[in-house]
Amino acid sequence: MIAKIVSMIMSIVIMISSSFGLAFVAPEEEAKEIENVIIMIGDGMGWNHLYSTQNKHNIKLNMLEKTDYHGFSRTRSASALVTDSAAGGTALSTGSRTTNGYIGVYPTDPLEAIATPASITEVAIKRGLSTGVVTSDAITGATPSAFSAHERDRDMSAELFADQVASDIDLIWGSIDAETVTKEACQENGKKYVSTLSEVKALEYGEKSIGQFDCNTLWQGLDNGDQPTLSELTVEAIDILNNDKDGFFLMVEGAHIDKRSHSQDGEGAMTAVLEFDKAVNAALEFAKADGNTLVVISADHETGAVTPNGDGTYTWTSGSHSGANVPVLVYGCDSFIEDGEVIDNVDIPTKAVAFMTNNEVAFPTPYSYLMDEE
Ligand SMILES: [Zn+2]
Repeated sequence: MIAKIVSMIMSIVIMISSSFGLAFVAPEEEAKEIENVIIMIGDGMGWNHLYSTQNKHNIKLNMLEKTDYHGFSRTRSASALVTDSAAGGTALSTGSRTTNGYIGVYPTDPLEAIATPASITEVAIKRGLSTGVVTSDAITGATPSAFSAHERDRDMSAELFADQVASDIDLIWGSIDAETVTKEACQENGKKYVSTLSEVKALEYGEKSIGQFDCNTLWQGLDNGDQPTLSELTVEAIDILNNDKDGFFLMVEGAHIDKRSHSQDGEGAMTAVLEFDKAVNAALEFAKADGNTLVVISADHETGAVTPNGDGTYTWTSGSHSGANVPVLVYGCDSFIEDGEVIDNVDIPTKAVAFMTNNEVAFPTPYSYLMDEE
């Protein structure tokens, strides 16, 4: 009972503090309107994942070469110095740190008795923008869920999917999870179920969809008939969402940088970086042509404690997440971050929402406080 009361008081404090003054304010000299926001998350992607891939494959990564500003993000969660992907994703989607394992809920209010923190996806929807979530993971994985659901436990796949399928998100695409994601549930909720690249290309603007594709093709960028890669899905997602004159919000996750790093499989992790970088390139090329698109490439945390050996090679020294600061690479906005600046993970959606809404929405904020457009 006392715990419940303390929890309620804490939630009220969070709500009050969110509505007064804690918001990031976009500098006034920022003249350019940001219409579209694309957040690209390399799950588990630290700086040395990027350097090791460049050295090993003797290439320059698009995300390092074609972005304008390179800063750092501190990745801790509310409960630990080393975050998991649930709390990490929640920080990047809501601007609110939470307890490891929680998806889009306050650390003080995991049962959503009082409120849930609004996600950047929900802000976009509320303002009439089109929205999409694309991942090489199952769509109920922690990162995509943080941008499309609110549940107290990342393992509640059925509940996470129920949130997603009932949402107004235009497209949620990821790898096959036949146990959780059924064609019937999609259809019952007015969502088209797509499972090939041709079906994705045949989608009409305004048609909401849930996508289920071959996992290995997605993350390894394989040439596999009508199965899409992560970068192909990124191209198609932008193509669909860009039909919206009001703009769009898109989150793309490369999940296997983390997954292969857990296995201390450096080769696999670098393969995942390469395909994620192709997806990033699709976003950057679109943004360059469009002129009003902000692209932020970052990570929820580092995985593998990847360490240079001094001869150009790198060793995955751990099978777990680390507390290392991760890259924040920005294109399309001169006042998001400065070169070398260190910001908090929660600053990323806070700044993105400020730019997306011309400072009309200040993160973090409870979902129920989202301003009414009328
Ligand atoms: Zn992980």
